[in-house]
Amino acid sequence: MNAETPALPVLPAALEGLITATEWPQLAPLVAEINRLKIDRDAVILAHNYMRPEIFHCVADITGDSLALAQKAVEATASVIVMAGVHFMAETAKVLNPDKVVLMPDLQAGCSLAEAITADDVRRLKAEHPGLPVVVYVNTSAEVKAEADVCCTSGNAVQVVESICAEWGVDRCLLLPDRYLAENIAAQTRYGIISFPGACEVHELYTPEDIADIRDSFGDDLVVIAHPECPRPVVEAADFAGSTAQMIDFIRDQSPARVLLVTECSMGENLMASAPQTEFIRACNMCPHMKRITLEKIRDSLLTLDPQITVDPAIAHKARLSVDRMLACGRNTPIAPEPEAR
Ligand code: SF4
Repeated sequence: MNAETPALPVLPAALEGLITATEWPQLAPLVAEINRLKIDRDAVILAHNYMRPEIFHCVADITGDSLALAQKAVEATASVIVMAGVHFMAETAKVLNPDKVVLMPDLQAGCSLAEAITADDVRRLKAEHPGLPVVVYVNTSAEVKAEADVCCTSGNAVQVVESICAEWGVDRCLLLPDRYLAENIAAQTRYGIISFPGACEVHELYTPEDIADIRDSFGDDLVVIAHPECPRPVVEAADFAGSTAQMIDFIRDQSPARVLLVTECSMGENLMASAPQTEFIRACNMCPHMKRITLEKIRDSLLTLDPQITVDPAIAHKARLSVDRMLACGRNTPIAPEPEAR
């Protein structure tokens, strides 16, 4: 190497084993450029736990599940928010930050759950079930959230369902649109759940036979953790079920020797660095929508301040009420209006 040759960037320890020594020199300049652009643009990058490791570890300012990203979006002080996630997450950030620029690096990054249900579907279901509260998963469009009484995530769905049913004095509610989440929540509460036939295209692929086969291969010390978007028999075959944030807490608190995460592939990859004591078994399904987000697209969105998310102000106002009620639920304050006040 002569004096003019720039030194090769060093691969961060968190990426060892995930990114090859030949890939890293292509990625490192993008990482450096994005981190410079964040300062120039007064931007913050919110990254979901399913983002590629180079995004999660090298450019994200805040990482987490849908609930954490929604909470952090409320607190964001930067002028620009880049959502390294899928479209409904960027919409939620815009709903919570109407005066900020919210960038979505690839507008095609959708979600099979968000696309499963429309605002018309919710209006029809409300007419069919008058007097019952409507809880919608945060994986929905702003229009759908605007028709709901409250939102939930996989991490707080039981708490939200029980709070709103108790406040309304009813014995059941609608929980839309994930049929599997609805089944898994129904198993944890005395309240009845009316569901809708939506599903996550990633988690619905798992079967209890997959888990049995992997247990046979890896022995009794394997701990299986499933996401509640998985079908009920898969959750029943697991040792623990929870949101991606709850998976992180479980591994931190229990320090299992060997884990199978029944969820999107990047979850385990992103956890490896913070849980070196745990061996992560790689048997996962990839979300094609999450994987549309790349360093190049994040860089381009920061350079051009495009594509920006817009939400009709009237829709955003109503959607915000549903999101705010969910966030209030975590603070143990009343979360939703009585039926007659709707
Ligand atoms: S993993 Fe499933 S729920 Fe999450 S964004 Fe992909 S399709 Fe949607």
